Amino acid sequence: MKVAFFDTKPYDHIWFDILAREYGYEFKYFDSRLSKETAMLAGGCEAVCVFVNDDVSAPVIERLQESAVKVIALRCSGYNNVDLAAAKNKMSVVRVPSYSPTAVAEHAVALLLSVNRKTHRAYSRTRDHNFAINGLMGFDLRDKTAGVVGTGQIGLLFAEIAKGLGMRVLAYDIKPQPGSGLEYVDLDKLFSLSDVISLHCPLTEDTRHLINDHRITQMKDGAVIINTSRGALINTQALLSGLLSEKIGAAGLDVYEEEEHYFFEDKSNEVIQDDELARLLSLPNVLVTSHQAFFTKEAMQAIAMVTLENLHAFAQGKPLKNEIKAR
Ligand code: NAD
Repeated sequence: MKVAFFDTKPYDHIWFDILAREYGYEFKYFDSRLSKETAMLAGGCEAVCVFVNDDVSAPVIERLQESAVKVIALRCSGYNNVDLAAAKNKMSVVRVPSYSPTAVAEHAVALLLSVNRKTHRAYSRTRDHNFAINGLMGFDLRDKTAGVVGTGQIGLLFAEIAKGLGMRVLAYDIKPQPGSGLEYVDLDKLFSLSDVISLHCPLTEDTRHLINDHRITQMKDGAVIINTSRGALINTQALLSGLLSEKIGAAGLDVYEEEEHYFFEDKSNEVIQDDELARLLSLPNVLVTSHQAFFTKEAMQAIAMVTLENLHAFAQGKPLKNEIKAR
């Protein structure tokens, strides 16, 4: 099978090259993202392999179909960038539902510990021989309340680590996990009682702008927001207003609403045109990482293995256990 691999970076090749040899597949790596303009690069390939910011909308799917592509393999779990209705009856869509939930949960905790204890600022200060600690005061996490929105694989692990830190955990999910031992509450209660709110639900029509002006008003003064899920769960303008009014104490963001224009790329020689991103980056109590929560050795290996298994099942006409379809 020939596979057109979009939005590729050198670190993607490591495991995919090893496994492609094992399976006898040919991977054509492209730096560019999949879009209407680049879809024709998939010519001669039966499969395309895409990531979180590739455009897999209806017009792109139409062009892939013209190129005789039969399967889209997402090398990620979230699929909000794929128009599943447009793919229906045209091509199969498979994903990697789980690669290392641990990696993402641990990164969410890393963001929380950093923005609370301001280690990101301390790092710059001491490198500059500034040993003052003024402005770096945090709060004890023990006995504070963490509100976890979405208690799937990642949310459950985040809750477990938060409990390990001595925090009380409140949870909200449209499908609570039976037997998880978590204290489920409604969103109003979660927002009004939590010192830390960590988002672990997918981006859907229901969750878009889950954090908005109304929810921010409900929050405790100085609450911390952590988002390692999808950027559009947060209305960025509302977040900025909450941060500027000091209602929100800090934010740790691994994802951003308009991230596809910036994340994963070196833009250090360019002027940032996105005023909201620039403003967020200017605030001392905001830490932005560039969608790297998944980025561990274990996760990268698992992503390549499951993607190859998905493609192999498709090639052999076997059931696709990781297929996603329009409802
Ligand atoms: P999962 O499917 O195991 O869990 C998602 C949970 O969210 C489920 O329990 C589901 O019932 C719940 N949910 C769905 N709609 C909801 C709603 N309206 N309100 C509250 N809860 C709702 O997924 P997961 O593996 O835990 O991943 C969670 C999210 O993390 C993914 O959707 C993805 O967007 C994100 N993610 C980010 C990275 C990263 O590198 N930053 C990596 C992997 C996943």
